[in-house]
Amino acid sequence: MNGKPLQKDLRSLLNLPIDIQNDANCFTLSEAILGAGKGYSNVLGVIIGTGLGGGFITHQKIHTGKNGYAAELGHTSIDYNGIPCWCGNKGCIENYLSGTAIERIYQQYNPHETGIKTPEIYQRYLHKEAQALTTFEKYFIYFGQGFANFIYTFDPDIIVLGGGVSKIPLLYTEGKKAIARHFQQEKLNIQIVQNELGDSSGIFGSLLMTHANI
Ligand SMILES: [Zn+2]
Repeated sequence: MNGKPLQKDLRSLLNLPIDIQNDANCFTLSEAILGAGKGYSNVLGVIIGTGLGGGFITHQKIHTGKNGYAAELGHTSIDYNGIPCWCGNKGCIENYLSGTAIERIYQQYNPHETGIKTPEIYQRYLHKEAQALTTFEKYFIYFGQGFANFIYTFDPDIIVLGGGVSKIPLLYTEGKKAIARHFQQEKLNIQIVQNELGDSSGIFGSLLMTHANI
């Protein structure tokens, strides 16, 4: 991003065969081999935190694509005229589905308080605060549309979620229902689960890459 060849510089400085891989790809590889996606051929991983990152593992291999853009789900758009993204596009899903987005939506409905974080907004949802209820209602419209797009693209055997927002139980109940609204019900079998290896999952993935020389 700043024009410096990080991998090349690290290799020459450390004199070691350094490889660089996207954190969401490492997360998904880890979950596909050791975690919630174990035993499934096609695993889609989505990290929902301050941003949104994706990875797609097919038969235990990372599918990075010709240009390295495969499964960069955060920058698929759900509104060509939507919120401008740092990547230069508009309406990128990252700006609607991330934890940062939940906080922004909440701020719109509750302009009198600033800096309320997602875990607190979820607590307020549980206490049936009107603004928090409306925030998640709005959020799940975006969530349903976004994940429907992911399923229409990959139709994975299982979707494994990571990142801070993945700890909100609503994603696996209300979120799943919101996705299902975009499909013919009788044909639908969506498995969307929380990761099993926790916040360090990506580290396991990077170790697996080194070990398997993927
Ligand atoms: Zn973007």
